[in-house]
Amino acid sequence: MEYPPLVIPQTLAAGPGPGNTDPRVLERLYQTGVADHMQKDVVRGMIEAKIMLREVFGTKNAHTFGVAGTGFSGLDCMLSMILPGDRVVVFVNGTFSGIDGLTIRMKAATQEELAADSLNPQTANVIIVDIPHGQSVTGNIVDEALAEHKPMWAFMAHWETGSGRVNDVQGFNNACAKHGALGLVDAVSSLGIEDFDIDEYPAVVAWASCPQKGILCLPLTYAPVSFRDEAIELLKQRGCRTYGHHPILEARHWGIINGEDGAPTYHRTHSCYSVAAFHEALRILLGYGRAQKAVDYAYHEKALRQAVEAMGCEVTSNMTSLVVLNLPGKLAGSEKDLVAACREQNFGIWPTLSSPVQVRIGILNQLNQDAITDIVGRFADAMLKMGAGFNKEKVMQGLAEYYSAN
Ligand SMILES: *Cc1c(COP(=O)(O)O)cnc(C)c1O
Repeated sequence: MEYPPLVIPQTLAAGPGPGNTDPRVLERLYQTGVADHMQKDVVRGMIEAKIMLREVFGTKNAHTFGVAGTGFSGLDCMLSMILPGDRVVVFVNGTFSGIDGLTIRMKAATQEELAADSLNPQTANVIIVDIPHGQSVTGNIVDEALAEHKPMWAFMAHWETGSGRVNDVQGFNNACAKHGALGLVDAVSSLGIEDFDIDEYPAVVAWASCPQKGILCLPLTYAPVSFRDEAIELLKQRGCRTYGHHPILEARHWGIINGEDGAPTYHRTHSCYSVAAFHEALRILLGYGRAQKAVDYAYHEKALRQAVEAMGCEVTSNMTSLVVLNLPGKLAGSEKDLVAACREQNFGIWPTLSSPVQVRIGILNQLNQDAITDIVGRFADAMLKMGAGFNKEKVMQGLAEYYSAN
């Protein structure tokens, strides 16, 4: 059997992630020469990326670096601090915090609990607090659960991409501080989109993000993570069961040695291509400005939201990079067909991955009027084709008016 070369078309990535890759990132990727992981420019790139990441996170944490892989690689690194038998409270309000909860149950499970159901262990010491889809985790919910269960760790997603909901990280931080829990946050969907400094939430001892959403570095690169010193101290005392994702060992290659910046030492073979791409993505983000980016996301999300509402959809999300919506009554139930029809046209929107079925349209790296107009136009066409009853011209005119008025 012969395998023809793989040709992947250019699509409009308008889902929850990945975001559209900036041509500058791709240029760095393919104009980089082959060089090993200890070559001086590769090492310099990693050190500079580490320093830029501290700015992106808004932190002085020495242990701020990238974990090779996707968002779940960074989360795995962070959640490796949880050991069998640890008591953890996990707040779940959608697909991703649900998967994080599974990761935590796997890590905190006793040997017996893991063996009883290895792919979905029921872990007595892990309390999953389910918040209905479409709702946010509030400070009150966290406070009550931590008061009742007195855990060692508490976990939450900052922005839950499954349902498009922003959770209350200030309330989470305050409740962790009040009840003496070590906070852990999945910031996969918020880093690089919302303007926040993690150092303002000192009860959250570690954060994990991803390359492909706010950082916009899909060429498989690095999941940013950041650990407070007290987390690293605890880790030193107790250890954790991974080499590849060990936060202290992994940090060494980024030049973080004994809690301070120093000369990088080998941990694993980092790709010169990935380092160059990641470095460029961070330069682009900081050049644009974290605060400006957050403002622009909110501005363009509002344009998209108003346009889909004008088509009769009901928006249930409050993230600024993503709109999660219910189709108008007549089309309810055809969400998956609609999404499939759009994807057939290389217009990459998504359904929700857990029930209820909704449509998700994202605007990662689509921060201009033309891009939003393209997304709205394509979505309008797809809805009309399925029998929706609105006037497309009116919708497009409303969108143009939003932009000219603001
Ligand atoms: C996208 C996402 C993940 C998973 O990231 P991958 O890059 O697919 O591994 C985890 N958590 C949240 C909140 C996400 O939005």
